[in-house]
This record gives sequence, structure tokens and C-alpha cells, in this order.
Amino acid sequence: MPKTPEDIIRDEIRALTAYHVPEAAGMVKLDAMENPYRLPADVQVEIARLVESAALNRYPDPGAARLKACLRVAMGIPPGMDVLLGNGSDELIQMLIMAAARPGAAVLGFEPSFVMFRMIATFCGVRYVGVPLTPEFALDADRVVAAIAEHQPALVFIAYPNNPTGNLFDATAVARVIDAAPGPVVVDEAYHAFAGRTFMPRLTDYPNLLVMRTLSKSGLAGLRLGLLAGGNAWLAHVDKVRLPYNVNVLTQLVAEKVLRHQDLLAQQAAAITAERTRLFDELKRLPGVRPFPSDANFILFRTGMADGVFNGLKQRGVLIKNLNGSHPSLVDCLRVTVGTPEENGRFLESLRATLSNL
Ligand code: PMP
Repeated sequence: MPKTPEDIIRDEIRALTAYHVPEAAGMVKLDAMENPYRLPADVQVEIARLVESAALNRYPDPGAARLKACLRVAMGIPPGMDVLLGNGSDELIQMLIMAAARPGAAVLGFEPSFVMFRMIATFCGVRYVGVPLTPEFALDADRVVAAIAEHQPALVFIAYPNNPTGNLFDATAVARVIDAAPGPVVVDEAYHAFAGRTFMPRLTDYPNLLVMRTLSKSGLAGLRLGLLAGGNAWLAHVDKVRLPYNVNVLTQLVAEKVLRHQDLLAQQAAAITAERTRLFDELKRLPGVRPFPSDANFILFRTGMADGVFNGLKQRGVLIKNLNGSHPSLVDCLRVTVGTPEENGRFLESLRATLSNL
């Protein structure tokens, strides 16, 4: 008898819903925390030249030494720390959990937080412990320390700032978690460019701290490049589960080139942060809308009839993220990425029109 998917595919995988990426052609796309700005024309020409001369017939440099050297400077990685690169930081999360996936191991994160922590734990057959945040999305350090004592997690993931809530947790509470954890604590700084706070210099204080960054939110989402910084004692082992050549030739070349234009990336991040303030103030003025303070490039907001608001925006050509129904503390919550002033204007105009038609 031939086997069916029920016989072959693990129960927990059959029970999953695939990570859904909605169709966005022709829409004002404010759903995925992308940077709305392209690179200036002269930098695009430099990139085109690089691509023209790239040795696409060869495998990439497996150690990506030149790119790592650039990242060390750009990201302020303390001397003596190792760096591991991933095909996006998603891949680094996968490598970490895969390397620690002993039978019975647990991974600890927060609720609500970045969904891939839980999903990848499930892919790897590892138990995920989601510790609830407070109703205002703060980290309840006493509760986390108690959960760590109970579950003895192999890994702890802290998104700093958090997605989808946008806030930075209190640094003292994060430090308490690092002190209490029996194993590595991964501080995921995907939104660092908009937050201005970091645990990177603290790597030398805590042997069990690992700091993760990505270029995705800084205008290079299409390249897929993430990095993990930390002590060699941990990274040397995580590196063993990395697939050879995981960072391709074009990503290595282009990332290195763009990192030489740090000032441009910083200017774009500053423009986005300024727009975040304007968007927050405008949202606050709308009746029945409550935006949550954000240190990232997106804003979470609560509004009555969130599903209707989401659909109304979509009909008007604006795509954001509907979080209603994804978690009890996100009832009636929507998340909008900060776009260009024009895109944000289109979003606000469509939101006003939608709210007055509900
Ligand atoms: N961490 C957090 C907190 C995120 O929100 C995201 C993207 N949504 C990622 C990691 C993954 O980013 P990437 O794989 O593009 O580097």
C-alpha cells in the first residue's frame, strides 16, 4: 500500500498553516516592514557593475571573510566575538534551534512576538514555551524568570524591539533574563536601525548572550542577509549546521558595497523614524484608534472592527497586516509599516475614508 501524507508527514507539520505572504501587486505595500526607499542611482550603477563582473560560475566564499569584516565595523561587533551569517536572520534562528534540538529540549520566547520563533521550534520538533507579555506588551521579568526556572530552556529569544508590538523591552528586565537563563539568550535586533538601543556592546559582559541583526529592514530585504554575533564557544557549534554556501555570491558582493554607504542607510532610517512620529500622531488623532508607541519601522494600532478596517484599506489599494485573531492580546490590532510620506498619506486618507464608512 502506498503511504499517504498522513502516514509520512509529522502530525505537527500537517497541523501548521503555511506562512502566508499576500499578493501585493499594485498596492501601497505597508505589510512587511520593508524600507520604502531605493538606493540612489549612482550606487545602483556601482551595483550593476559588480553584478556584471561577478563569477557566477563559482560557489561563493564559504566564510564570506570580506563581508564579515565590513559587518564588524558597520554593526559595532566587539573585538574577539565571532560572526555567523545567514540567508536572512530566519535562517540563523533555524540553525540555532536545529543545533539545540535535543529530545525534550524547550525554546522560550514571548507572546505575542515574532512568529518564526515558534514555527521553527515546531519544524525542529522542539517544545516552545511562550511567556505572555503584560497587556501593555512589557516584559514581566518575574514571570519570565519563573518560567526559565520551570522549563530550563535550551534557548531564549527576545526580539528587541519586539515584533508585532514595536516596543523595546526594559533593558534591566532583559538583563535579568540573560542572568537567569541556563543557556544562550538571543537578542534579536532586527529593528535596531530605528531603535538606537542595543545589547551588542554587552556581548563581552555575558558569555551566554548572542545578538542577531538583519539588513532586511534597512533597505536590503531582497538580498536576504542576517548575522549572529557572539562567543566562539557557541557559534563554532551553530556553524556546523549551516549549509555550505548559504550566502550567495551576489548577496556578498552587493551587501559589502552598500555597507560602504552606511551614511545613506542611516539617512533613510532617520527619514523613516521621523515619519513614524508623524504617523503615530495622526493615528492618535483618529477617534477610536489607539496606536502603541514604537521603536521600530512599524506601528501597531487597535481599532474597533479591525477586520472591516483591514478590508476597507485593501479595497482602497493599501495593504497592511491584520493581527486580529492571531493572539488574544492582539484583538482588533492592525500593524502598519512606516512608508514614504506619500505612502503614509495614502494610508491615512484611506483609513479616514474606511472609518467613516463602517
Ligand atoms: N526577527 C524579527 C523580530 C523579525 O520581525 C523578522 C522579520 N519580520 C526577522 C527576524 C526575519 O528577518 P530576515 O529573515 O528578513 O532577516
